[in-house]
Amino acid sequence: MDTIQIKDKRFKTFIPEADILKEVARVANEINHDLEGENPLFLSVLNGSFMFTADLMKHLTIPCEISFVKLASYAGTASTGKVKELVGLNEDISGRTVVIVEDIVDTGLTMQRLLETLKARNPKEIRIATLLVKPDKLQVDLDINYVAMNIPNDFIVGYGLDYDGFGRNYRDIYTVVE
Ligand code: 5GP
Repeated sequence: MDTIQIKDKRFKTFIPEADILKEVARVANEINHDLEGENPLFLSVLNGSFMFTADLMKHLTIPCEISFVKLASYAGTASTGKVKELVGLNEDISGRTVVIVEDIVDTGLTMQRLLETLKARNPKEIRIATLLVKPDKLQVDLDINYVAMNIPNDFIVGYGLDYDGFGRNYRDIYTVVE
């Protein structure tokens, strides 16, 4: 088993690339089947989902568009605390089928906030495609349409996901060694 060191933490291989790619291809095939004729707009949420997005797109055979957005954290008022604002969405999504492409849904709060923001722009439908879900951490009721893999609560890196900015470049997914 491979282990890597990122800053003060050690990580060991958890999901090898081949297993990831198999599940990503499965998700793409489900989308090809479900969204035929919908001309969906995929919204890839940077930074973490860049690798997942690239591999997913390679397997999509339906006509579709892709755009990249980011959730920028800024300090809100004392009552709202930290607020995440959607940046980079230049497309008119009204009447369109939108597929959010995320790296990981943990508590689900980020996704919930993103859904609210996008719904205000009157799309026809919003679907969620995520590489990973931590089902035991979910705090909100989310209808996640496409999930490549469910994982336990441990902190993971690799395949686009980072620890303090590092580790996004690894092709496998690693889990932290306590
Ligand atoms: P949520 O709002 O669902 O709690 O958090 C979602 C975000 O937290 C993800 O988009 C991701 O940036 C980050 N996150 C949650 N769990 C992990 C993890 O295990 N590893 C990494 N690298 N990021 C995580």
